[in-house]
Amino acid sequence: MPLSSAEIASALATIVGADAVVSDTAKMGAYLNEPRKRFHKTAAAVVTPPSVEALQAVVRWANENHVGLIPQGGNTGLVGAQVPLFGTEVIVSLARLDRIRSIDTAAGVMTAEAGVILENAHRAAEAEGAMFPLWLASQGSARIGGVLSSNAGGVNVLAYGNARELTMGVEAVLADGRLYQGLNALKKDNTGYDLKDLLVGAEGTLGIITAATLKIFPLPEDHETALVNVASPEAALDVFQLMRQRLSSRLNAFELIPHIGLDFQLRHGMLDADPTASPSPWYALIEVTRMAGTEPGALQSALEATFEKSLISDAVIAESLADRTRMWAFREQMSECQSKEGASIKHDVSVPIAAVPALISEGSAAAERLSPGIRPVPFGHMGDGNIHFNFSQPAGADPKAFMSQYDEALHEVIYDVVLKLGGSVSAEHGIGQLKTDLLKQVKDPVALEMMRAIKTALDPNGILNPGKMLGFEPS
Ligand SMILES: Cc1cc2nc3c(=O)[nH]c(=O)nc-3n(C[C@H](O)[C@H](O)[C@H](O)COP(=O)(O)OP(=O)(O)OC[C@H]3O[C@@H](n4cnc5c(N)ncnc54)[C@H](O)[C@@H]3O)c2cc1C
Repeated sequence: MPLSSAEIASALATIVGADAVVSDTAKMGAYLNEPRKRFHKTAAAVVTPPSVEALQAVVRWANENHVGLIPQGGNTGLVGAQVPLFGTEVIVSLARLDRIRSIDTAAGVMTAEAGVILENAHRAAEAEGAMFPLWLASQGSARIGGVLSSNAGGVNVLAYGNARELTMGVEAVLADGRLYQGLNALKKDNTGYDLKDLLVGAEGTLGIITAATLKIFPLPEDHETALVNVASPEAALDVFQLMRQRLSSRLNAFELIPHIGLDFQLRHGMLDADPTASPSPWYALIEVTRMAGTEPGALQSALEATFEKSLISDAVIAESLADRTRMWAFREQMSECQSKEGASIKHDVSVPIAAVPALISEGSAAAERLSPGIRPVPFGHMGDGNIHFNFSQPAGADPKAFMSQYDEALHEVIYDVVLKLGGSVSAEHGIGQLKTDLLKQVKDPVALEMMRAIKTALDPNGILNPGKMLGFEPS
């Protein structure tokens, strides 16, 4: 007989203290309301353990009583992985484990607890003259445990890699309450399976991360940033290749933005001034890091080479921090500006970089055939082959009717194109509860069997983030 919510809350209060348990539905709002506003189940309770030991006690109890636990960081995930699927789970907020345990700039390692807000990790590294380069629009709320568990990417993946590549080791509570102490900081360690790589990107289905050793880098002296006019995604790809040849790992961002995004943002007063040099069908936001002791001007000279080859028609280089901030705001507001234009249907997909132009042209054409007048708004991390392939409803259409008629159908059409081009249906946001069925359809069956076997071995009672990602629980 499953425990009632009241019994669960009361047992948790005995373990961690009543002040660490929220059971009043109204007070759970901050933990339940997620950014996509798609998932609306309640939870049995929210628990905020004050220490690793308290968390271990909670997990041990949940395992013995078959109570589902959902680890939660900043609740900014975009696939519903951090909120309930059944309504009977307990949300385990890591917010109180928020210490930076150590920073060693000589070794290039920072040890941060799971509840550290990403922006605070940036500040802590900067205070020591170093940089933690994982940069997301949600960094003011997202926490290290959530960022690692969703293997987040962001705008610096090109130069520094995604969360997995930035993690050297993790400490995590396993489903039976044991603590996996994997906080190593070794560049080389060939002693068997890489368990860290299993836990990173597991969306809380294999363990609850309590801390991680993260790679930090020397703080750049400066950034050189430009918004460049390109005629097409094909031209943007040529510019990207040339930038890579000239700038190598100093190229830390190459983001593609369509003109319609500028229209939306100017129309809705989201920019204090037009950050672009002149009108263009597409823009590329390009950024280069400049390290201490190097001369400025690398981006400018690389851009001159692209002008000579007629790959770009115009460009503006940021001359001040305000210019840079405005250019990045233009990029970061791409998702939000769509919400002011009615309903939108979104796809976080990736393809091999050379296939980005085909993805955009074939996907846009297929969407137009399905829903005449639909407005494609593809943007994002061109340098990673990761496009946020979003579509706004036709101007003036009824948002509800548009969504009910086209949401599912458009996903099918776009994922068909993505798969045909050898891509992935989830580039950086993960699977959660949004794409569980899709994963079953598109993932290699042998890979799915291996994933289920791992889940069964590490969480035989299926208490960790039940139903998420695999849509499968060991029985
Ligand atoms: C405005 C905005 C912009 C974004 N931009 C990007 C982007 O550019 N690139 C990108 O990759 N993502 C982006 N995201 C989504 C991104 O995945 C999240 O913002 C972030 O990585 C999640 O961190 P969080 O602390 O909010 O995790 P949550 O949302 O709380 O949780 C996410 C997942 O991690 C699990 N989890 C949380 N903490 C732990 C833990 N300690 N141990 C085990 N599992 C845990 C949860 O169960 C869930 O499965 C964006 C989101 C928003 C709202």
